[in-house]
Amino acid sequence: MTRTIALAGNPNSGKSTLFNRLTGSRQSVGNWPGVTLERKTGHLRSNSDVEIVDLPGVYSLSAYTLEERVARDYLLDSAPDCIINIVDGTNLERNLFLTTQLLELGIPVVVAINMIDLVRNQGAMIDAVHLARNLGVPVVEISATHGTGIEELTKVVLADHAIPKPLPYSFGQEVVLGEIMRVTGVSNRWIATQLFERDEFIATRGLQPDAALEGIIATCEDALDDDAISIMAGERYAQVSQAMVGCVDTRTTRALTPSDRVDQIITNRWLALPIFAAVMFVVYYISVTTVGTLVTDYTNDVIFGDIVPNHVAVWLSDIGTADWLSRLVVEGIIGGVGAVLGFVPQLMLLFIFLAILEDSGYMARVAFIMDRAFRHFGLSGKSFIPMLIGTGCSVPGIMASRTIENERDHKLTAMTTSFIPCGAKLAVIALISGAVFQGAWWVAPSAYFVGMGAVVLSGIILKKSALFSGDPAPFVMELPPYHLPRAGAVLRSMWERSWAFIRRAGTIILLATMTIWFLANVGWQSGLHFVDDLDNSMLAAVSGSLAWIFAPLGWGTWQSTAATLSGLIAKESVVGTFGVLYGVAEVSEDGVEIWGQLAASFTVLAAYSFLLFNLLCAPCFAAIGAIRREMGNARWTAFAVAYQTVFAWTIAFIFYQIGVAIRDRVADGWTVLAVATLVGIVWLLMKKPSRSRRATIASRIGSEAAA
Ligand code: GDP
Ligand code: MG
Repeated sequence: MTRTIALAGNPNSGKSTLFNRLTGSRQSVGNWPGVTLERKTGHLRSNSDVEIVDLPGVYSLSAYTLEERVARDYLLDSAPDCIINIVDGTNLERNLFLTTQLLELGIPVVVAINMIDLVRNQGAMIDAVHLARNLGVPVVEISATHGTGIEELTKVVLADHAIPKPLPYSFGQEVVLGEIMRVTGVSNRWIATQLFERDEFIATRGLQPDAALEGIIATCEDALDDDAISIMAGERYAQVSQAMVGCVDTRTTRALTPSDRVDQIITNRWLALPIFAAVMFVVYYISVTTVGTLVTDYTNDVIFGDIVPNHVAVWLSDIGTADWLSRLVVEGIIGGVGAVLGFVPQLMLLFIFLAILEDSGYMARVAFIMDRAFRHFGLSGKSFIPMLIGTGCSVPGIMASRTIENERDHKLTAMTTSFIPCGAKLAVIALISGAVFQGAWWVAPSAYFVGMGAVVLSGIILKKSALFSGDPAPFVMELPPYHLPRAGAVLRSMWERSWAFIRRAGTIILLATMTIWFLANVGWQSGLHFVDDLDNSMLAAVSGSLAWIFAPLGWGTWQSTAATLSGLIAKESVVGTFGVLYGVAEVSEDGVEIWGQLAASFTVLAAYSFLLFNLLCAPCFAAIGAIRREMGNARWTAFAVAYQTVFAWTIAFIFYQIGVAIRDRVADGWTVLAVATLVGIVWLLMKKPSRSRRATIASRIGSEAAA
């Protein structure tokens, strides 16, 4: 008679190593029916009647991930004769969370504590006999890599086992589960817990959630003032601690690897955020302000400011090009596209730094750190990954928000990801920083923190509306060990992002700046004709009619309005438009550089207000399209874009008006309005959201993943 044994455990617990040890080379690999996860089965080396099935590595049997769904479906549908639950002995508490669920399935379980060699090296001890008594199933200590305990494990597994007796829950929870089993007629205790959690996948197994069931769940949630999923997770952690009593000295179960020691500092509760802020500060400071500026100044002033336009101008007049065409090329194309391309060196430097941070493993830690911070604001660390990707371009960043299963968090992330400055916005930041602030050290890093601040602020405010309320999804991720970044990987990542930027300069930006040039050079006065004075152009007319919107922000000129509007095409266009507008002026007024012209048209406060608005307002059309795809309908998309733009305006408004009042020591009606708006925002922030137990538990899972 063939027996089937399933191998279940957390990712990285040593499942594959054990599987290979048990089966030798006699294994077959296929796919799980209907999904593309690899399926490995094999026969026991010592007994070919025993089939071993390697399940996907999971932390839980809830249906958050595809792996979890595959593992649970197999266990429920195929009912193997026995489960070997492989448990990483160096991380007992986190691993036993899964064990508590396996014990409820009504299938015999043998717990294999793996990595026992590591446990012993760390001078720790796990009392397997005691643990077996607490769990009510056999426990064998093994080392899959060294082959220790494998023989005993095989023997224990082949012996006949009783169905395990599930671990007890709190008295109240036992009553609730008993009630659920009574009204639904379900006899499997684990399915009852899933019904309690309102698991939709369980519900599809012919068990439609009914009013009686919902009544029980809701009563319990009301009584405990918590949601069902958190209640269950709390119950399970209580079981885990109960099972571990007297089995292990928790303080010494882990020896510190060098990676752990670094993590103790980097993910430290108090130091983590300051360290992250310092790292990002240095990255932006070096790439935009110091080294980057040297190269960019050269490309802007010498290459695209002098050499290229002069040579092209001479060449064009040599071959007898019409004057207007020659001006289009020199002012429109070189002025606009050149102004954008001038920032490529700074971008490359930034992308190198980001790639190093990602490849070394630091950014994975940051996602974990941000999870802890974001959670206070109702966002999960999962939201940080799209933002990280968004530092290159918001479009893939917004698309990455799709990995967030919770629909409200998905939407919230899709609409806040573009607050983080993308590569194109970096060009705007660098322009303002260089032209108006003479590359002051704080401007570029501050733009990054403004973006982060906007995400957090929006998280807090939006989570309070019924549209987005609810707890963030649990966030579990493996932290890879640190390693030296690989030059190849870093360069490839840098090049991919930079090339996307350069390619846009040659396509969409080229078209945009040509259009802007035309609009800036033709006017309507009893017919279309070229104008001498830009102020009489169509662009001036159209932008001028909208400039009043931005007047309270300190930069209500038609030029700044035109640049901002062109940012909808692509954010580099903001730079390109200034390039065209002041490039034209440059040629006519002879020898005054673009940056000087730009600086002359802004006060310091107005320039920063301009930067604030352009960083936070509606992203470019491509990113709006990505938001549309994530949101699924036009109404949500309109809401997202309107929110971003109103938010940007409000922040820039408060900054500018209060800034001016402080600078001039006078207050007027605008000041009063700005202060009132600020008070309104602070009030929105103060309505503190209640931090639920589910959040605490999820961050606990997170911190164990990191520990
Ligand atoms: P899986 O993700 O559960 O399939 O885990 P793997 O079998 O791939 O193992 C993860 C890592 O743990 C690998 O680097 C293994 O070499 C290591 N590993 C597995 N079992 C042991 C063990 O008993 N002792 C030690 N020291 N390392 C182990
Ligand atoms: Mg594996």
